[in-house]
Amino acid sequence: MATRTFLKACLFWLVSISPAWAAQDLVPVRIGVFDNPPIVTAAPGRLPEGIAIDVIRSVAEREGWNVTYVPDSFDNLLSRLDKGDIDLLAVIAYSDERAQRFQFSKESLISNWGMVFRNAGVPIDSLPDLKGKRVALMRSGTHTQALIELSRQFDAPFTPVYVDNFPQVLAAIAERRADAGVVNRVFAAVHAHQPDVVATGIVFNPIFVHYAAPKHANPALLHALDRDLAALRADPDSIYYASLRRWLEASSTEPYVWWLPWAAAAGGGLLILALAIAGFLRYQVRRQTGELQRRADMLQVEIRQREEAQQHLNQLAYFDGLTKLPNREGFRIALDQTLAAMHGTHERLALLFIDIDRLKNINDGLGHGAGDLLLQQVALRLQSVLRAHDHLSRFGGDEFVVIVSEIVRSSDAELVATRLLNSLAMPIDIGSTQIYSSASVGIALYPDDATSVEALLKHADTAMYQAKEQGGNRFLFYQAQQTARVVERLTLDTRLRQALERDELLLHYQPIVELGSGRIVGVEALLRWDDPDQGLVMPGAFISAAEDTGLIVPLGEWVLEAGCEQLRAWQKQGRAGQLTLAVNISTRQFEGGRLVKSVAQALARTGLAAECLELEITENVMLIMNDEVRSALDSLRSMGVRLSLDDFGTGYSSLGYLKQLPFHALKVDQSFVRRIPGEAGDTQIVTTILALAKGLEMQVIAEGIETREQYDFLRDHGCEFGQGYLMSRPQPADRLAELLDRKGMTGPA
Ligand code: C2E
Ligand code: MG
Ligand code: MG
Repeated sequence: MATRTFLKACLFWLVSISPAWAAQDLVPVRIGVFDNPPIVTAAPGRLPEGIAIDVIRSVAEREGWNVTYVPDSFDNLLSRLDKGDIDLLAVIAYSDERAQRFQFSKESLISNWGMVFRNAGVPIDSLPDLKGKRVALMRSGTHTQALIELSRQFDAPFTPVYVDNFPQVLAAIAERRADAGVVNRVFAAVHAHQPDVVATGIVFNPIFVHYAAPKHANPALLHALDRDLAALRADPDSIYYASLRRWLEASSTEPYVWWLPWAAAAGGGLLILALAIAGFLRYQVRRQTGELQRRADMLQVEIRQREEAQQHLNQLAYFDGLTKLPNREGFRIALDQTLAAMHGTHERLALLFIDIDRLKNINDGLGHGAGDLLLQQVALRLQSVLRAHDHLSRFGGDEFVVIVSEIVRSSDAELVATRLLNSLAMPIDIGSTQIYSSASVGIALYPDDATSVEALLKHADTAMYQAKEQGGNRFLFYQAQQTARVVERLTLDTRLRQALERDELLLHYQPIVELGSGRIVGVEALLRWDDPDQGLVMPGAFISAAEDTGLIVPLGEWVLEAGCEQLRAWQKQGRAGQLTLAVNISTRQFEGGRLVKSVAQALARTGLAAECLELEITENVMLIMNDEVRSALDSLRSMGVRLSLDDFGTGYSSLGYLKQLPFHALKVDQSFVRRIPGEAGDTQIVTTILALAKGLEMQVIAEGIETREQYDFLRDHGCEFGQGYLMSRPQPADRLAELLDRKGMTGPA
């Protein structure tokens, strides 16, 4: 076989020294090349080289092609291929989408996969570590989309830093313009040897590299290429394997004079032929033995690399990088196996769907790093209270699932759920911050509730959702009618949208009273929905659904406009005096940076002075506090709008923060007011809040005053303002106008 190659080489040598003869009948073939070493190296001013080019040369020689190389960027080459400006592209990774656009060679040149490298100073070991990092990617590279897609699935979005080729990827990492970057393994084998650029364990997206021709080109060219490439790959002595060895083992990028070995081989061959064929054969045998050994070694290395890559891919496929727990796929396999083992027995199992409460708030407020640490700690806590044969997995985001096997009664599942919830009761230390976490757990039983994996999961999820709706930090068993309630919630969103369009929303107003004088100093606008089917619907029934779907944003804008318009109307009628209007703002309205604009618009359109408007923001705004929210609050305050912290005492507040933030007032939540002065704990809390507010020079408004005792106690302990049924329930606009007319005053009757 070697002899044949050698003879062919001699022939080629003879042919190539007679150019006039060679030029006859050659098929012109334009081949697009771009810099993708060591598969193709297309440096300006140099002939292209590399594995793909060695193969093309060999094919050109067999087929009588007159090759012209067209070097360009990969992007440009794709559009040239579209237009038929080039006949072949060397090389392109196969994808179904590209196969719609181009014809691909059937034979692939080489297999390849993406590898993530990092700067030596940046700790990145697994895919989730890419979250928030800068990752250098080759624009329109095959692995580029794949990594972006993967990172989305792993909830690890990063900032792409786009470059034109692989050498620039490594340069960006080395120079710290990127924390990490993606190159393919073939390129990495030769070029990624800088001390400050380190391989991470992340490998992904195995692909095959091919040649491609324009969609409507004559297929003869690709047929010839396929035929020759197949023959080259079938022959271990062919130029194909020589090229692989040469390029994948090379570490220098010295220019390669491609005809030199041919000429040398031809000359040497002629001599040896002429002098001693026997000696030549002996030499060949020795060389081949050495070659075989070398190739066996290489194969060994290749196999090891593949095994490692496969292991990494398995790790990615079945485990969650952040918590190292099995992921959704890992869960499915475990559950399938458990169910198969239980088949025909009378055993039962429980599926517990766990969702960490308010993780989004923690991510938004303390950063994703804190959220990740919390999830890792939560995973450890959950695992620590499970039995060895229970199976814990993470479904991504804040969702975990436990398979509890061998249960006898449903109370066994209840016990496990209680243990899981208790495990989260103690605060978790994240750096210097302590975070209280809790979870909502939904339980579905096999075979009682369902017998298929899908149905069990759906039922456990439904029950979890209900547990969350009831305030979280609890578990609930699946009950058939809960599905109906979820469907109901989904239709609620549609009905609310219609309500907004059909003008079915209205505002009621509740007076805010100066406790000392009994004078009405303001009104709080409270949203109502006049549903043609159900009558007047209170906000408790729809605000949280509107927050989930984002509908709260247009809803909140409507409330602002309608409230400002009403107060302006009362002012024009001479009824309002110094009255302020308080409007509730959901934390979701801070997303997207539209809030300041919509407030300014509402004021401008209605002509209400900013000083007459007070925005009530729940204490949970602290959890989403970032520069954007902070600057929105500052802008509102500098416009002259007043700001108060609603439901104070129920959520998360950092006193350090409170001092820096531009709030005018605290609204003490009604749950504390309800039990004063009788209940010592709540009384203590209220007096503490009053003292705190005084220290911070903030006003206090007590909510939910229902009794004379509450009113007197609050007034006597320095609480200036209050609202509650004792003074007045929330009223439609016309009734409130009457109240204002009567005396502009109200008191504790
Ligand atoms: P909130 O802002 O804390 O409003 C006070 C709630 O307490 C109102 O309930 C009010 O009717 C009720 N309330 C007032 N005095 C008393 C009392 O003496 N005893 C008792 N038991 N309750 C009293 P409502 O109108 O059902 O609103 C509930 C919550 O819905 C509001 O709590 C607020 O968080 C939210 N909400 C109402 N309107 C809007 C809105 O336009 N936008 C947003 N984002 N949320 C709103
Ligand atoms: Mg309020
Ligand atoms: Mg409140």
